[in-house]
Amino acid sequence: ASLKSGQLREGLEPSRGGEPAAAAAETAEAKGEGKVLVCARCHSLRHYGRVKHPDAERLLPDFDFIAAVGPRLASPSGARSLVLLLADASDFDGSFPRAVARLVAAAGEAHSADWKHGAPANLPRALLVVTKLDLLPTPSLSPDDVHAWAHSRARAGAGADLRLAGVHLVSAARGWGVRDLLDHVRELAGARGNVWAVGARNVGKSTLLNAIARCSGVVGRPTLTEAPVPGTTLDVIKVDGVVGAQAKLFDTPGLLHGHQLTSRLTSEEMKLVQVRKEMRPRTYRVKTGQSIHIGGLVRLDIEELTVGSIYVTVWASPLVPLHMGKTENAETMIKEHFGLQLQPPIGRGRVKELGKWVRKEFKVSGNSWDTNSKDIAIAGLGWFGIGLKGEAVLGLWTYDGVDVVSRSSLV
Ligand code: GDP
Repeated sequence: ASLKSGQLREGLEPSRGGEPAAAAAETAEAKGEGKVLVCARCHSLRHYGRVKHPDAERLLPDFDFIAAVGPRLASPSGARSLVLLLADASDFDGSFPRAVARLVAAAGEAHSADWKHGAPANLPRALLVVTKLDLLPTPSLSPDDVHAWAHSRARAGAGADLRLAGVHLVSAARGWGVRDLLDHVRELAGARGNVWAVGARNVGKSTLLNAIARCSGVVGRPTLTEAPVPGTTLDVIKVDGVVGAQAKLFDTPGLLHGHQLTSRLTSEEMKLVQVRKEMRPRTYRVKTGQSIHIGGLVRLDIEELTVGSIYVTVWASPLVPLHMGKTENAETMIKEHFGLQLQPPIGRGRVKELGKWVRKEFKVSGNSWDTNSKDIAIAGLGWFGIGLKGEAVLGLWTYDGVDVVSRSSLV
């Protein structure tokens, strides 16, 4: 991505003044004004039958959106379905709800002949909503680039058949992009549409729905009702009055993505891994035979280079320690330091619990030291940005089943 300063933030700041959405929500809650429409506790009680607790959530069953909502997407009554596909800017590929996106893509493809005159009325449409934009190094990114990047990553996850009605970059915490999103949702849903918000656990869905509800001017106590979606043990919740008088907004339970590292972590470990503030790069210049460890979770080995050295930038929570050393010492690091100096996992006993340690190979080529050529992204953790002139063979080690993808670079 090219570097143009300051634009992303400017493009997204709310045009109207006032306190940031999250701060406003906290104040409202503190004052007992009941303006928070979907409080995290109610949301969790409704969805998971208990107060939000990451250790408990980790063990809860996944929500089967496809079985529960799929049949309702192409409504026989002709009411428009709109699916909000939420993805976390700091873990796009890991959090993107690709199975649901594929379902929407397949529905569109099955009726491709009908598309000549625009989308048929009863076909589900989808908006991609990139959440937590404030976590990206926004001053150095251009909104157009992030927009195009997100669109192409969504298609990489769901297939080229995915037709998006739009891409929205938002930060519910800062109030960025929420008004535009609400306007677009209202326009697409029409008078009687059904809007389904879908996303992985912790993608920021309840925070966003609260921000949307506040933005819509709905005040007072939440109007949440359990939606009549048969066959669901976890509840789909209807949030009234936000999209329109008759259009309906449904909040669905967070999806459990086994391919995200976070899905295996304890609440204490999650606190170290989850990114809370704007991400800061940590860059190393490395040569063949060297390795970079991200806690005891991931290791990148520089196996072969056609040039002397490459630049590797780690984008991950600052609370996770990094270590750079010789690959020949990597086994010793695992035996002696994983779970102790290299956390998470927290404690030696957790190392085995996280699963088998496996290698995936990446061949990367590039022609500049100044910009990253590729990212190697680890679902639920972050990514390595690789800057090089020449070619490299890299070995990425992590726990079996955790998704690792090579993608065009974001920063
Ligand atoms: P849900 O499980 O998808 O409903 O996610 P939540 O709304 O509970 O958010 C998960 C975590 O992400 C919480 O710690 C939130 O404070 C945080 N979060 C949500 N939205 C934002 C955002 O726009 N920016 C930042 N920095 N954090 C956010």
